[in-house]
Amino acid sequence: MRRQLIAGNWKLNPVAARDAAGLLRAIRAAGLSRGAAAVLPPFPYLILAREMLAGSGVAFGAQDCSPHSQGAHTGEVGAGQLADLGCSLVVVGHSERRAAGETDALVAAKLRSAQVAGLTAILCIGEARAAREAGSAQEHTLGQLSEAVNDEASTCSQLIVAYEPVWAIGTGLNATPADAQAMCAAIRAALTERFGAPGRDVTVQYGGSVNEKNAPELLAQPDIDGALVGGASLRAESFAAIVRALPRRV
Ligand code: PEP
Repeated sequence: MRRQLIAGNWKLNPVAARDAAGLLRAIRAAGLSRGAAAVLPPFPYLILAREMLAGSGVAFGAQDCSPHSQGAHTGEVGAGQLADLGCSLVVVGHSERRAAGETDALVAAKLRSAQVAGLTAILCIGEARAAREAGSAQEHTLGQLSEAVNDEASTCSQLIVAYEPVWAIGTGLNATPADAQAMCAAIRAALTERFGAPGRDVTVQYGGSVNEKNAPELLAQPDIDGALVGGASLRAESFAAIVRALPRRV
């Protein structure tokens, strides 16, 4: 069965460790189902997350990693270092990083580096508003997918794909459940065509202004296995409500 996962991307929040600790404490206290939730705090809070979430069943990971494993790369954090620290997940290709200049080739290198280190990569793909309006949302999104994954089916076992239409991130706008479902189904079909059964079983998330109100309908879609949540993941009650909105699948 496909893994269902709600992952909270904290972005550059909160700005003080005591607030990060408060959020982690509240998430832990929510008593979420084991394996259903993950938090993605900024690098400085990862050790705090490891300590405060130990034994809770809530996973933790990072928002980015270097394509390099070690050496003269000032300021970068290697995927191996993240794995050594206890992370199980790392985001690659978030649209906010792509907007800052990351190319498809760099995203592909980061994804490979993450997987080699034993991490599961959450690969973010999705179209900008102009592509949606021009009717090329699918072409654009599947193009990003194809550029990021390599040709080995083993790539699928440590892969989560997050469909995040850029125009929906942090804007309060959502893809409709039907549009989100259609894109997630197209992503799954492309992975299945390329990799067979391992591709079909990849977890596909939706991301873009998910909150406790819109989550139930989005998460009820058959090809949406979870969500990558930004703003709402900074409020423990909202985050927990989104996790609890995951439908039970048999
Ligand atoms: C994100 O950061 O990946 C995201 C989806 O943010 P938000 O939920 O705030 O739109």
